[in-house]
Amino acid sequence: MKITFCGAAGEVTGSQHLIESGNLRILLDCGLFQGRRSESRIKNQQFLHKPARLDAVILSHAHTDHCGNLPSLYGEGFRGPIFCTPATADIAAVMLEDSAKIQAEDATHLNKRRAHGEPLVEPLYTRDEARATVRLFETIPYDTWRQIFPTLRIRFREAGHILGSAITELEFQEGGETRRVVFTGDLGRRSMPLLRDPQLVNGCDVLITESTYGNRVHPPADDIRDDLERLLKEAVERSGRVIIPAFSLGRTQQLVYFLNELTNAGRIPRIPVFVDSPLSKRLTDVFREHPGVFDSEVQHTLRTDKDPFDFPGLTYIATPEESMQLNRRPGAFVVIAASGMCESGRVLHHLKHGVENPNNTIAIMGFQAEHTLGRRIRDRQPFLKIYDREYRLNARVEVLEGLSAHADVHDLKWFFEHMGQTTGIGQAFLVHGEPDSLAGLGQVLREYCDEEPIVPQRGQSFTV
Ligand SMILES: [Zn+2]
Repeated sequence: MKITFCGAAGEVTGSQHLIESGNLRILLDCGLFQGRRSESRIKNQQFLHKPARLDAVILSHAHTDHCGNLPSLYGEGFRGPIFCTPATADIAAVMLEDSAKIQAEDATHLNKRRAHGEPLVEPLYTRDEARATVRLFETIPYDTWRQIFPTLRIRFREAGHILGSAITELEFQEGGETRRVVFTGDLGRRSMPLLRDPQLVNGCDVLITESTYGNRVHPPADDIRDDLERLLKEAVERSGRVIIPAFSLGRTQQLVYFLNELTNAGRIPRIPVFVDSPLSKRLTDVFREHPGVFDSEVQHTLRTDKDPFDFPGLTYIATPEESMQLNRRPGAFVVIAASGMCESGRVLHHLKHGVENPNNTIAIMGFQAEHTLGRRIRDRQPFLKIYDREYRLNARVEVLEGLSAHADVHDLKWFFEHMGQTTGIGQAFLVHGEPDSLAGLGQVLREYCDEEPIVPQRGQSFTV
C-alpha cells in the first residue's frame, strides 16, 4: 500500500491524501487550500495525481478545507462515487454551492481591478460543477460496514467535530491479509453541545491523524450559558446591542441552541435575537433534518421542544434590506452574523454601526487568527479599520472561550490510548497541524506506535 500526502501536510488547509492498494486509488478528502491567494490558487488547480483515474473519494466532513475542492476534481474528469455520511452530504451540498458563489464573486472583483493586459481571472469552479459533484455523493450511515470494492470495506464512526463528521475505518485486502487504516478527519472534543462525543476505535496498521491542537489544552466548555445569560441581561439594562460574529456552520447553531435552552429555562429576559446570514439559515435547516445524530441532551430537549433552533423572539434574516434595517433599530437586541473572524460578510456592517457605542457588546468566540479584524477586537485595539474607515472601539468586548470544535491534546491522548490498548498502532502519520502542534503530538503518539510517527510534507509518498 502506498500513501501520498497531497494536502494538509505540514499545514492546516487543503486536506487530501491518496491511498493506492492493488489497483485501487482512493482519495481521502479534497479540501480547499486557503491562505495567500496566488499560492493557494496554484495548489487548488494542480493536483498531484490524475483525478480521472481515482476509483472513489471518501469525505470526512463538510468543512471547506476538507470538501471545498471536490468540484475541481470533477472539472478534471473525476466521475466516481464520493462516500460520506448522510448529514455530511447535505451540508457539503450547501457549502459547495456557497463556495462556487464566492469563487464567482472573487473572480468578478479581481477582474475589475485587473491591470491592462493581465489575463482574465476564471473562478476555480462553477456552480454547475459544484452541483454535478453533489450528484456523486453516496451516503453510508454511521457504524455500518460497507464493501465499496471487492478489496475494500469502510465504516464511518462519530468524530464529534461538526454535524456529520466521521472517523473513517478502511480495511483493505492485500495478498490474503487485511490491512487496517484509520483516518481521523477532524476530531471533536468530548461533551460539546449538540454533538455526540467522538467514538473510540480499535488500533490499526496505519493511522492518519489530525493535529490541530496537538500541543494545547482547552479551557472547560460548560460556562458559555452563564456568560450568555449575563451578557443578555446587561444588554437589556443598558438598552445596547450584542453583536456576535460566528461561523455559519456549527458555531451559529450551537449559539442558537444555547439561547433556546436559556429561553426554555426562563433564564434570559425577552430580547430580540437575529441570525443574519442566509447561509446560516440554510445550514440550520439541514441540522433540523438530521435530529438522529444529535447528542442525548438534544434528544431529551426534542421530547418537549420539537425545534431546538427556534424560540420566541428569534428571527432568521434573509434579505440585505432586512439586515440593513437592524442598523437603525432602537433598543436592546442580539445579532449573530458571519464571518466568525470578522473578515467578510454581514457582521462587518453590524460592527461598523455598533463599535463606537459604549452600551453595545461584541462577543468574540473561539480562535481568531492573526491579522484578522476579529483578532484586533479580541485584543481590544483602540481603533479598528472596517472597510475603508477607522472606528473607535468603545463597545465592550467579551471573549467567550470553550467552544472549540477540535480535540485538544487530552482528547487526542484519550483517543490514541484506546487504539494502543486494543490492537496497537503500526505506523502513524500526523497531518493537519502547524509545525509546533505536529511536533508536540508526535511526542504523545510515539508511546502507542510500533514505528516512529511521521510528519509528511506535501507530495511525499510512503510505502507501508
Ligand atoms: Zn473541520
